[in-house]
Amino acid sequence: MPDALPGLWQKKVQESVSEEGIPDGPVRLSEYPDDGASQLPCGFPQSHTGWPKGGSLAFARALESRYRSLGGQIEYNSRVSKILVEDDRAVGVLLADGSEHRADAVISAADGHTTIFDMLFGAYTDDRIRSYYKSPPDHSEMSLQVSYGVAGDMTGEPHSLTYFLKSPVRLMDREVDRLNVEVFNFDPTLAPPGKTVVKVMFGSRYSYRREFAQDRRRYEDEKARIAGSVIGLLEERFAGISAQVEMTDVATSLTTERYTGNWQGLQAWMPPGAGLTAMTQGFTRTLPGLRNFHMAGHWAEAMVGLSTAAISGRKAIERMCEEDGKKFRTVLD
Ligand SMILES: Cc1cc2nc3c(=O)[nH]c(=O)nc-3n(C[C@H](O)[C@H](O)[C@H](O)COP(=O)(O)OP(=O)(O)OC[C@H]3O[C@@H](n4cnc5c(N)ncnc54)[C@H](O)[C@@H]3O)c2cc1C
Repeated sequence: MPDALPGLWQKKVQESVSEEGIPDGPVRLSEYPDDGASQLPCGFPQSHTGWPKGGSLAFARALESRYRSLGGQIEYNSRVSKILVEDDRAVGVLLADGSEHRADAVISAADGHTTIFDMLFGAYTDDRIRSYYKSPPDHSEMSLQVSYGVAGDMTGEPHSLTYFLKSPVRLMDREVDRLNVEVFNFDPTLAPPGKTVVKVMFGSRYSYRREFAQDRRRYEDEKARIAGSVIGLLEERFAGISAQVEMTDVATSLTTERYTGNWQGLQAWMPPGAGLTAMTQGFTRTLPGLRNFHMAGHWAEAMVGLSTAAISGRKAIERMCEEDGKKFRTVLD
């Protein structure tokens, strides 16, 4: 445990550590750099860090509802293939269906690599941006999620737990000696009454998964094998759970890539050596040489998280207000 952890939180953790396991999340705090480890738990006692009820969908729906109530319009299922540029000014988008939509300004909240190198053909970059996207991490944490719908409310179980296995097992490309388990018994919107979602997360290499997925059948068989192995490992801590499983879902970073378009299923990563600069100044909130264009979301900030994405969108609007000479203000209903 890093010494830098705030005293109150450290005391709480130490008190609750038992032989059964460590109250750790999918992010292994023990393996986190000191500054990250100290920042993350700092928010817990003050309720600055938490879980939006309903998860990310409810979070996005709340933003959608507010945007619509202010007169905004949203067109879903509209893939952008190109950002239209005239005289180094973004003037709209071309959709995959061939339709063009003109605009006073364009904000891309889509995948950074797609935005910069496909939608804008790499015309607005510099060495910093090129070198960032040239060396994506092959390994990523949280790149394999195994979820189960369990017939039981699992009241009394911790929300998140890491426990060590009786003996290590091989899952995809790595040896696993512990399980990082999340028990969503604290959010009644995620499962019908009396039932619970349980999720286990692992890291793995993208190149391995990509190679595996060349053969779709083999990939699906491997996912089924993983689901079977993991439920067996959950039995070590949650005896009888396998008989209660009503639903199973295995998602890899290829799933993330397919559903969200995120490059290699990745989440943005902090540029090496950027430290706090990325946190305060973002990474590609705008692009060099391109006017009337903004980016928002994790690629703009080179930092991940729902809260990051929301704050990033707000920063984009603040910049636009500044450019237009308008005062940025927020209103609470
Ligand atoms: C497995 C996993 C677990 C995570 N767990 C957590 C967590 O517990 N807490 C947390 O805070 N964060 C978590 N994250 C991180 C979080 O999900 C991301 O940081 C966040 O979703 C980034 O939001 P975003 O809006 O920037 O990007 P995204 O959520 O990736 O949204 C990008 C959107 O752009 C759209 N898009 C892409 N290409 C195009 C195109 N050409 N045209 C039109 N639209 C396009 C996509 O459809 C997508 O809707 C997790 C991520 C993963 C992968």
